[in-house]
Amino acid sequence: MMEKLSSDIVTRCEWFDRNYSDIKERIAVAAEKSGRKADDIILLAATKTVPAEVINHAIESGINYIGENRVQEFLAKKDDLSRAAHRHFIGHLQTNKVKDIVDEVEMIQSVHSLKLAKEINRLAEKRNKVMDILCEVNIGNEESKSGFSNDEILERIEEISKLPFVRVKGLMTIPPISENSDESARYFAKMQKLFIDIKGKKVDNVDMVYLSMGMSDDYEQAIGYGANIVRIGTSLFGRRDYGNK
Ligand SMILES: *Cc1c(COP(=O)(O)O)cnc(C)c1O
Repeated sequence: MMEKLSSDIVTRCEWFDRNYSDIKERIAVAAEKSGRKADDIILLAATKTVPAEVINHAIESGINYIGENRVQEFLAKKDDLSRAAHRHFIGHLQTNKVKDIVDEVEMIQSVHSLKLAKEINRLAEKRNKVMDILCEVNIGNEESKSGFSNDEILERIEEISKLPFVRVKGLMTIPPISENSDESARYFAKMQKLFIDIKGKKVDNVDMVYLSMGMSDDYEQAIGYGANIVRIGTSLFGRRDYGNK
């Protein structure tokens, strides 16, 4: 057991070292192509299933944003994680779990319902803080995914904007798995349009600064459509089922 764990850690650190500079370079190129600077794009390491030692190695190497998906896993790892990186929650969040992370993360990227936003607001008020959130959009209207639909997102953001202890900072999406890059481009373009439209509404208490989209397979394309947070796991740390197969 011990042996397997440590070789997993070494393997993942090596994978990270091989890939990190290449990913940064690709992000810089994609940013420039879209008229922005490398620094305008946040590379958030998606760290689900990645051991704390490996995450800390990544942070020492320059990663300054991490995103966790599962509350239980995050709580188990959090005390071992370097404080040098911003912590975001990016996974599906149940209302009854908000209490466990409201003190632990700087942003909840995956707010998928008004009910969830209200619970974050309630607990943030108790803690005397304002929680930054992104609203998750189910851009492909997939049954299997949570998130606001294209049609309701503006109205819901207007409702959420009235919650004083929550601050909407932008949008996040996990688009459908696409057959080809034309198809994924359509989803990214839809998100970019939504983002620009909502930003143009200048809703009070809403600060549309972040568009979080793009993962290992499509982050360069997402940047082309205005993404300024890309969430990357596999390309940074290797396959998550490594060691299980
Ligand atoms: C796992 C995950 C990612 C990263 O996916 P990769 O394809 O491994 O890069 C990004 N966002 C969310 C919400 C995730 O759960």
